[in-house]
Amino acid sequence: MQKTLKQLHEELKNGTITVESLVIECKKTIAEKDGDIHALLGLYSDSLISSQIVVAEKMFKDGKANTLTGIPIVIKDNILVKGELATGGSKILEKYHATYDATVIKKLKEAGAILIARANMDEFAMGGSTENSAFGVTKNPHDITRVAGGSSGGSAAVVAYGGVPVSLGSDTGGSIRQPASLCGVVGLKTTYGDVSRYGVMAMGSSLDQIGPFGNSVEDVEEVYKIISGYDELDSTSLSNESRKPKVENLKKIIGIPMSFVNREGIDKEVLDNFNISIDMMKNFGYIIKDINIEYLEKALSVYYILMPAEVSSNLARYDGIRFGLSHPGETSIQSYFESRTAGFGPEVRRRILLGTYVLSSGYHDAYYNKANLVREMLRKEFEKVFQEVDVIATPTSPVPAFKIGEKSQDPLAMYLADIFTVPVNIVGVPAISIPSGKTSSGLPLGMQFVASHMSEGTLFTIGKEFELAIIK
Ligand code: GLN
Repeated sequence: MQKTLKQLHEELKNGTITVESLVIECKKTIAEKDGDIHALLGLYSDSLISSQIVVAEKMFKDGKANTLTGIPIVIKDNILVKGELATGGSKILEKYHATYDATVIKKLKEAGAILIARANMDEFAMGGSTENSAFGVTKNPHDITRVAGGSSGGSAAVVAYGGVPVSLGSDTGGSIRQPASLCGVVGLKTTYGDVSRYGVMAMGSSLDQIGPFGNSVEDVEEVYKIISGYDELDSTSLSNESRKPKVENLKKIIGIPMSFVNREGIDKEVLDNFNISIDMMKNFGYIIKDINIEYLEKALSVYYILMPAEVSSNLARYDGIRFGLSHPGETSIQSYFESRTAGFGPEVRRRILLGTYVLSSGYHDAYYNKANLVREMLRKEFEKVFQEVDVIATPTSPVPAFKIGEKSQDPLAMYLADIFTVPVNIVGVPAISIPSGKTSSGLPLGMQFVASHMSEGTLFTIGKEFELAIIK
């Protein structure tokens, strides 16, 4: 499924293909390839898929179709689709059926998209390799001995192997961009508050955002246009006032925090590819400027304090009583213990422990409050830098796809893989990962561009030029 959304739209419109034939084709590719890759946790019910096909075909007949009408799309399994399973990659929700549609799902349904399957993910989006899924690892379509990245590994892999043209993931510290980079597709993390989080399982509520995967910047932009927008059901949703389109006057300057990028632990091929690819942007008249972002080195530490704090509080709702796995004990406390022990995997437990620790009295000031202060300082630094540059560029990941099992016993090594993506969530700005070539052994690499608040448009403009620069 390497055709662009616009090409597919043309074919659907002029009748070369039908919505139904497109869905059948996607299901066929999935049936052929997903056995090896395990990007998906399951297809949505036949009744949902067929009713959506009817809606989409009617929209074409009535002349009301848009670029997403009739397009099969895969959804990360932490986004609720009414009546369908939504596990969050966790045993605790293995049999949970969503009782309502997330706002993004409502928007996709209204646009006539065909929700086709649920994507595998690290349990509750905690991880960078999809090895923390309770339902088995997702393998990288470019080399099945390697990880697809995470936590949205399934959403990235299914687009990479051609099962669907686009998918949705969520990004709390890099979970869209990193798997996009490792699988060789485009992934967009939107501005915090841009896309509604209503109906998305919360991980770190001050960091989480939903965003699309696709084969090109243009395809990702098409999905973005449908899913973004104010939502009164999400109290952090940006108001229409603050969304007024900015006049985009590009300065034609790309900033690179070179001392941060050229660091210990970065793979040599990643660094070489980064330098070569960014140099190509000079052909489009860009000036490349070395910049210094103070406190950038602190972002990962800030993240691993704030995120677990929010995780520990958000995951309190899985108590074995209201919904999900239930192991009744003699007392309520025993029921909580037994249900949560049976339902949560080791990484989720580790983060709940870390989170309760940093929030506990006596440590709250030393860790949580301090991390919030540094967060504020970092935000100001980014604002300052964006006075001078259009975008900041870094590699998306310091390493290409690693071997399955290579980092799973070493959480710190896994956390370090987020070094370039995490700062973006800390400050709440948008960023995109775009394929930038391959290693000598054929593993995909990705370039990350970061723009200022609500400047997704800048990412699309520069991203499309970057794609052209890389093809040349
Ligand atoms: N890999 C990061 C983590 O484990 C990011 C996860 C995410 O963005 N959901 O926290």
